[in-house]
Amino acid sequence: MIVVLVEHSQGVFKKKSLEAVLYAAHIAKEMGTDITAVAMGNVPDSEMQTLGAYGAQKVLHTTDARLDNFNSKAYAKVVVAAAQKENAKVIIGLHDTTGKAVMPRVAARLQAGLVAGAVGYPDLSKGFTVKKNVFSGKAFAFVNVTSDTKVISLMPNTFPVVKGEGSATVEQMEAGLSDADFSVKVLEVSKASGSVPLSEAELVVSGGRGLKGPENWYVLEALAQELGAATACSRPVADAHWRPHGEHVGQTGGTIRPNLYIAVGISGAIQHLAGVNGSKTIVVINKDPEAPFFKAADYGVLGDAMEIVPKLTEAVKKFKA
Ligand code: FAD
Repeated sequence: MIVVLVEHSQGVFKKKSLEAVLYAAHIAKEMGTDITAVAMGNVPDSEMQTLGAYGAQKVLHTTDARLDNFNSKAYAKVVVAAAQKENAKVIIGLHDTTGKAVMPRVAARLQAGLVAGAVGYPDLSKGFTVKKNVFSGKAFAFVNVTSDTKVISLMPNTFPVVKGEGSATVEQMEAGLSDADFSVKVLEVSKASGSVPLSEAELVVSGGRGLKGPENWYVLEALAQELGAATACSRPVADAHWRPHGEHVGQTGGTIRPNLYIAVGISGAIQHLAGVNGSKTIVVINKDPEAPFFKAADYGVLGDAMEIVPKLTEAVKKFKA
C-alpha cells in the first residue's frame, strides 16, 4: 500500500497534491498495489471522492479543529497513523513548506529512508532508486532507499496533472491526537497578497532588491494584473517586510514552475534560482549586464526596471485590446 498526504485550501485540493496522487498512482501500478490518500481538516466528501480520478482508491479523513492551522508535529502523527493502519511501505508527500516539515518527522517515526525533493519515479529495477535535486537544483543525485518503509517528498510541479476517471471511498480516521501534539503554536499565517495563488500560477511577476523599496511595487502589480499573474519576490525583499513572506521563492521559500517567470531587479543567486529554475520561460529585467540571472534567462532585458516594466505593461494592454 502507498499512503499519500494531500493538502487543500478551503476544502479544495491543491493542484500539487493531485500531482502527488498521480505520482503515487504511477508507483502503485509498478508495485502492483493501491493508494490511500490522507486528508486533514474541513474537506467535503464530494471533494475527497474526486481523488479517485487521480488514482486513489481510498481517502482517510481526520477532522479536528486544531488541524485547521498547519502543525508539523500533529500532521506527522496523522500521516504515521494512516501509514500504520494501511501497513504502507511507501509514504509520499510534497517537498513544499508543509512536506519539508512533515515528511522528515514521518520518516524518523517510521524508521524509514527519506528521499527529499524527488524529481523522478523510483527505478524498481535498481532496488528503489529515486532521482532528486541536490545543491539547490544545480545537480541531481540518485538515491537507493534500502529501508523496508520508504518516504518520498516530491518536488511540486515536476509532472503534468491530468485528470482521469474514478471515485475514491472516504473513511474517517481517528489519529489519537492529544494536546501534546499541538505544543507548537502557529501565531500568524501570512498569505501572498495577489489574487492568483503563487504555487498554482502559470504566470509570475517577481521583484528583488533592485526595486529599491515597497513604494515601487505598484509597477510589478500593474504588470501582474494585466497578465493575470501572481506576484513573488526574493528573500531579502520578504525579510525587509517589503512583501509578505508567502511571496518569497527560492531555497528557503516556495518552489514554483510557472510557464512564465518575469524576474525584475533580482540578481539570480543560486538560492533564488533553486525555487524558480523549473519555470518554462524566464525573462530577466536587470540594469547590470553581469547579473548572474541573465545566464539562466530565456529572454533578457537590460535596463532600469522603473522604465521598462511600465512599458511592458502598456504593451500587454495594447496587445489585449
Ligand atoms: P540583490 O542581490 O541585491 O540584487 C538586486 C539586483 O537588482 C541586482 O542584480 C541589480 O543589478 C538589480 N538592480 C538594481 N537596480 C535596478 C534597477 N533600477 N532596475 C533593474 N535592476 C536593478 N534568496 C532568495 O531569493 N530566495 C531564497 O530562498 C534564498 N535562500 C537563501 C538561503 C541561504 C542559506 C542563503 C545564504 C541565502 C539565501 N538567499 C535566498 C539569498 C540569496 O543568496 C541572495 O542574497 C538574494 O537572492 C538576493 O536578492 P536580490 O536579487 O533581490 O537582491
